[in-house]
Amino acid sequence: MATLGNRAHTNAILEKYGFRFQKKYGQNFLIDEMILEDIIDAACITKEDVVVEIGPGIGTMTQYLCEQAGHVLAVEIDSNLIPILQETLAEYDNVEVINEDVLKVDLSEYAAAHGNRPLKVVANLPYYITTPIIMGLLESNLPLASITVMVQKEVADRMQEGPGTKDYGALSLAVQYYSKPEIVAIVPKSSFIPQPKVDSAVIRLDIYDAPPVDCENPKLMFQLIRAAFNQRRKTLMNGLNNAGILPMNKEALAKILVDMGLSESVRGEQLSLTQYAQLSNAIVAHGKSQS
Ligand code: SAM
Repeated sequence: MATLGNRAHTNAILEKYGFRFQKKYGQNFLIDEMILEDIIDAACITKEDVVVEIGPGIGTMTQYLCEQAGHVLAVEIDSNLIPILQETLAEYDNVEVINEDVLKVDLSEYAAAHGNRPLKVVANLPYYITTPIIMGLLESNLPLASITVMVQKEVADRMQEGPGTKDYGALSLAVQYYSKPEIVAIVPKSSFIPQPKVDSAVIRLDIYDAPPVDCENPKLMFQLIRAAFNQRRKTLMNGLNNAGILPMNKEALAKILVDMGLSESVRGEQLSLTQYAQLSNAIVAHGKSQS
């Protein structure tokens, strides 16, 4: 039975093992049964599902996942937590715990071992590596169905934002190219021990079968996006020109922007995902017309 969402049970386990929180691993453990249930509900886990949990901690959410899912892989970097997980997950035979850095694990082997069924990723993420973890998953060729994660509220906002807002950026565009994001809960600091400095949010990313925009060269599109937001204060034209990634001069780029109905002084943060795809396609077409 899942028992660790309760503060007293969590404290008892931590004391029993003399566990010391390691700040460098972003350890903020959940002690809120309602939030745990919200996360599991939002992830829509069934017995058919193969789930990957990143950073199980002492196994609080893992217990819930084991009860709902077909199979769970839990990837934990901190070796001090492994003996604790052996105790807290002892009653479940559908879980595999590995003591690894998730950024170095090849999850495709795990997916293959489960017939390449679409994986559901569920996690209360360590905040110091939220973006690399999410980008790594999105850009992998893993069969993914969804990613349901607790992140800093501000980061969840960034993933959902559109053009012209202060939180809109390269992360928003990448997330929205690969998935449909939806914030499903706002979580106060008091739901964790130790308490983090900021509020958190649970966001679910439903992975698209095919991207929502027609882009011939996504690699180029993301180079343009990175260049545009690296120099946020500059015009898009200067940002792209300074980055040295364009196979054309400024005049040719200006013509493309005007043909797209944009001003030459437009800023990168004003373009939608569809417009970045159009811009990238127009640059590819220009290259073809020159060769
Ligand atoms: N899931 C637990 C919970 O909700 O109570 C713990 C969440 S805590 C925010 C983040 C967890 O990720 C910690 O257990 C931490 O040790 C683990 N972690 C940090 N960096 C990691 C990495 N690179 N790979 C795997 N796990 C990591």
